[in-house]
Amino acid sequence: MFEYMQSAEETGQLIAEIYYRVSQYLSGEAQEVFEKYMSRHNLTEEEARQLLNTLQDPASIQELLEKLQGGVIPAEKADILRVLESQAYRARIERFEQLQSQIDLVMQQVYRQEKQLQEQHYIDLAREAYYKSVFDIQQRAGIGFSFSHIDQKQIDRVINTKWSGKNYSARIWKNTQGLAQDLKEEMLLGLLTGKTEREMSLEISKKYAQGAFRSRRLVRTESSYLTNQMEMQSYQECGVDRYIYLATLDLRTCDKCCIPLDGKTFAVADQEPGKNCPPMHPWCRCTTIAYISAEVLAGMKRRARDPVTGHTYLVPGSMTYGEWYGKYVEGNPEAEAKVKASRNASEDRKQFEEYKKLIGKDMPKSFADFHNLKYNEPEKWKFVKLDYQRRNDLLQHPELKLPNAENAILPEPKFTKYLFDENSVKGYPKGKAFADRLGYSIDNWQKLRDELKQGAKKYSAQYVDNNGYGDRYVQKMIIYGEKGTPANVIVAWLRKTDGTINLTSAYIKETK
Ligand SMILES: [Zn+2]
Ligand SMILES: [Zn+2]
Repeated sequence: MFEYMQSAEETGQLIAEIYYRVSQYLSGEAQEVFEKYMSRHNLTEEEARQLLNTLQDPASIQELLEKLQGGVIPAEKADILRVLESQAYRARIERFEQLQSQIDLVMQQVYRQEKQLQEQHYIDLAREAYYKSVFDIQQRAGIGFSFSHIDQKQIDRVINTKWSGKNYSARIWKNTQGLAQDLKEEMLLGLLTGKTEREMSLEISKKYAQGAFRSRRLVRTESSYLTNQMEMQSYQECGVDRYIYLATLDLRTCDKCCIPLDGKTFAVADQEPGKNCPPMHPWCRCTTIAYISAEVLAGMKRRARDPVTGHTYLVPGSMTYGEWYGKYVEGNPEAEAKVKASRNASEDRKQFEEYKKLIGKDMPKSFADFHNLKYNEPEKWKFVKLDYQRRNDLLQHPELKLPNAENAILPEPKFTKYLFDENSVKGYPKGKAFADRLGYSIDNWQKLRDELKQGAKKYSAQYVDNNGYGDRYVQKMIIYGEKGTPANVIVAWLRKTDGTINLTSAYIKETK
C-alpha cells in the first residue's frame, strides 16, 4: 500500500499559504473601511444579523440602505441610517463597495491557483499509486511480469469522476465562492455594528483559516479516493480479483464505518468508495491490499515466464521501488513516453485552453483528445502548432490584418470555373490537390469558400505589390478540411481601387 498522505499534506500546505497571503492582503485593504477606535453603533450583532438576513443578498449595502430608508427598525435604533448616510461615511461606503468586488476577483484567482495545484498533485499521485501498487504485488509474489502502463486518459477519467456528487474542481469552486460570499456578509455586518479594523482583520483570518481547512480536507479525501482507485486498477491489471480492506482507526466514529470492514475481502469488480472501498468518509485513512490466492499466483507465474528463454523474472524482497521502476517502467520506451506525457499534463492543459480560445472549432473538444493529438499524431500536431502561431501573430500585430477582410469577396467562378473545373489548365491542378488532401470538390466547394472567408479575418496578410489593377496581398492559412489531414494554404487577394478585397487564387503548399 502506498503512503499518499505526505504529498497530500504538502499540497494542502501550499494552498494554505495562498489563503494566508490573501487574508493578509484583504486585511490591509479593509483598513480604510472600518473604525480605528471603538465606536459601537446602536445595534447589536444579533440585531444586525437578523436585519441582513431579511435581504435578498445579505452582502449588499445598497439593498440594506433601501431597507433602512423604508423604516424597518425601531426609532431608537434608527440612528444607524443617519450614520451610514452622513457625509463622513460616504467615502467609506464607496471604498466598502470596491472591497466587495475585490473579494470576488481575488477569490476567482484563488480558485484558479488552487485548482492548478490540486490537479498537478493528483496527476503525479495517480501515476505513483498505480506503479507502487504493481511493484508491491510483484514483490509479494516474488516475480516480475509484464503489465500495461498507465496513460493520461485513465488518470483523467478517475480524477474527474463525481464520486462524491461533485468532482474536485466543482468543490474548489463551491468553497472559494462560498468563502467570498461569507466574507462579504461578515464585512457588511462589521460596518453595520461599527467593528474596528482589528476586529475585522481577525474575522478575515478566521474565515481564511476555515477555507484552508476545507481545502486540506478536500485534498486529503480526494487523494485517498484517487490512490485507492488507482490501486484497484493495478489489481485488475495484475489479475487480482479480490482485495482485503485494512482499517486505520483514527476517528472515534470509525467504530461504525471502518472497523466492521477491517480484514474483510471484496471482489475488485464490486468495489465502491464509501461502501466497501476507502475513503468511507472525509479524512478516512483506510487502505486495501491485494488478495493473492494460489490461483492468482499461478497466473502471475505463467505471465512471468519469457516465452523464448523460459526464464522467470524475479522481484526479490530486497529490491527497492526505485530499482524496480528503473527496470520495468523506465526501461520500456512506450511507458516512458506515457510518463513524460503525464508529467507535462499540467502545462499541456494550459496550452489546450489557449489553443481552444484561438483556434476554436478546429481543435479537439476534450483535453484527452488534444493530449492524444500532441503526443501521438506528430504530423497533424505540426499544423495545429503552426496555426496557433499564425493566428497569434495577427493578435500581436493587428496592423497586419487583411484590409476590409470582413467584406472579402470570393466569386463563385473562382471555384466552379477555375479550381474545380477540369478544363481549367491553371486552376484544376490546384483544385485536384484540394480534393485529395482536404476533401473539397465541385460538389462541396462552398465549404472551402466559407473556410477561406473565415480565414481572411484570422490570419495576417502580407502586401506583395501593386499590379496596376490594385494592391496584391497573400495570406497563409491552415485549413483542416474534411479528411483529418490539415494543409498549409496560400491565398492571394487583390484590393481593387474601389477598396473591395477579392480572392484571386488559392493553393496548397507543403511546409518544411
Ligand atoms: Zn471511518
Ligand atoms: Zn476509514
